[in-house]
Amino acid sequence: MAYQLFFGDLHNHNSVGLFHYSKGSLERTIEIARSHLDFFAFTGHSHWHDMPPMPNEGHLKWQEGFDHHTKLWPKTKQLMAAANDDGKFVAFLGYEWHSAEYGDRSVIFKNDDGDLVHASCIEELTAYAREKGALLVPHHIGYKSGLPGRGANWDAIDNSVMPLLEIFSEHGGHERDRGPWPYLRHTNGPRTSLNTLQHGLALGKKLGVVCSTDDHFGYPGAYGEGLAAVYAEEKTRASIWEALWARRTYGVTGDRIELTFTINDAAMGSILPRTSDRHIEVGVRGWDDIAMVEIVKNNRVLHRHFPEDAADLERPFSGPVLCRIEFGWGPWAALGIPRVADWVMTARLEGGRFGRYMPCFQSGPMDEERRNKVLEFGDDVCRWQSYTSRAGCFAETPTNAVVFEIEGGPDAALNLELESPSTKSFRYRLGDLMTSSEIEFTADFPCESLLIHRLVPETMYATRMEIHDKGTTDDFYYVRVTQANGQMAWSSPIWIGE
Ligand SMILES: [Zn+2]
Ligand SMILES: [Zn+2]
Repeated sequence: MAYQLFFGDLHNHNSVGLFHYSKGSLERTIEIARSHLDFFAFTGHSHWHDMPPMPNEGHLKWQEGFDHHTKLWPKTKQLMAAANDDGKFVAFLGYEWHSAEYGDRSVIFKNDDGDLVHASCIEELTAYAREKGALLVPHHIGYKSGLPGRGANWDAIDNSVMPLLEIFSEHGGHERDRGPWPYLRHTNGPRTSLNTLQHGLALGKKLGVVCSTDDHFGYPGAYGEGLAAVYAEEKTRASIWEALWARRTYGVTGDRIELTFTINDAAMGSILPRTSDRHIEVGVRGWDDIAMVEIVKNNRVLHRHFPEDAADLERPFSGPVLCRIEFGWGPWAALGIPRVADWVMTARLEGGRFGRYMPCFQSGPMDEERRNKVLEFGDDVCRWQSYTSRAGCFAETPTNAVVFEIEGGPDAALNLELESPSTKSFRYRLGDLMTSSEIEFTADFPCESLLIHRLVPETMYATRMEIHDKGTTDDFYYVRVTQANGQMAWSSPIWIGE
C-alpha cells in the first residue's frame, strides 16, 4: 500500500484554557486548521498538579484558566467531533497536562469520547491513557528537569503510551543541544544537553519524531512554529492514528519538506531485526535550495550530502521550478506607526502551469476576524488574502508567503495583480526571475514590500541518495535536512535490533 503524506499540528492553544495569554476562539482555530492542514489536535491547557505559587498571586490566574477549560470541555468535545470529516480533514480531541516533576504531555484521543482527567502523577495519566488508548506526547522536553524548567524526566517517558516526541515548536528545538533553534521565548529558561532527542535515543528510548506549533494565538500550523508530517494510507482518523503509533512521522520547522527515508525498504519509525547489511535510501523534495542532508547514526553524522555539488544548473527549467512570493515588512517599529496591512493578490501564469503550492502564514498579529487564506487555485491562477504587521508578528518576522511549483520555460510569464493594500500589477519573465529576485513597494515610503524570490530549479530543491552501511551492533539512524533558508526537517529514526 502506498502511503500518502499529510501535514498537521498536534499541539496548540487558544482562549479555551489559559485565556490570560492564549488567544482566539476554538471555532476560529478549527476554521484555520481546516484551511491549510490535513489534520490537527486541539490541546487546551487543563491542569498543573504541582504548580508553584507565583508572584502577585499569578498562579490564581492559571487556575482560573484551567477552570475555564474544564467548564468548556463538553463544548470542546462537541466542536472537535463536528470538525472531523474523514477523507477531507481530521480533528482529534485532546488537552495538555503540565507537570514540573514529570514534564508536560499533550493527551490526544482517537475518538470523541475522551474524558478530562486531572491526573496528579504520571502513573495516573499513563494508566488512563492506556485504558482509553490515548496518545501522550512529551514536548518542550529540552528545559531543565523539575521546577521551574518542566523539562524531561526520562523515567516518566514510557514508549507504550508515548511513541512520539515533539522536538520543535515555538519554544525552540531540542533534537540536540547545539545547532539552530535555541530556547529563547519562554519563562522556563534555556535547553540542556540531557533533555534532547539524542539523549533519549542514547538511553534506548524508541521515540518517533514530530514537530507541532504549541502556538498560543489559536493558530494551528502557524508558519515557523513546527508541523507534524505523517505517512498514512488515507486522510482518516483511523489511518492517521495508525501512522502516529507506527512512528511513520517526521517533523518540519515550517516549510513542508517532503522527506522519505528507508533502510532495507522499511519506513521511518521501523524497528528492524538485527542485520549487518543496511541499505539506506533518502529522498527530499523541499521548498528552497537544500543546503545539506545528513544521515545520523547513533547521534553522529554518518554521511553528509550537499545537493549543490552535483546540481545541473545549465538547464534550470528541465523540471518544475519554485517561486516564493513573500510580502509584508512595512514601517520600522521605531517610527511609531504600527498598522496591519491587508493583502489580496492574484498570481497568473502565461505559458506555464502551477503544480504544488505551499501557504506560509504565521500566527501574528493575533486577530479573531482576519484570515490568511488561499481563495482560488488552478492550473494558471492563484488568488489569496492575508494580513501582516510588524507589531505582534511571530519572532519579529513581519512577512507571510506563498510558494508555488511552476512548470514552464524561461519565456513563461508570471503576472502579479495586487488588489490590497494598494492596486498595482507586475509582470516578470521566468527566465529573469531565475537570475534575480524582484522587490516591489506597495506605495511611497513608509510602505509595505513584496519580494519575489529568485526561482529555485528542481536540481537544487530535490535530491535522492543511497548509501550502504555495515554493522554488527544494535544501531539507530535518522535524517536531518537543512534548507538554505534555514528551514529544517528531522525524520523519525529507524532502529536495527530490538
Ligand atoms: Zn507544555
Ligand atoms: Zn502547550
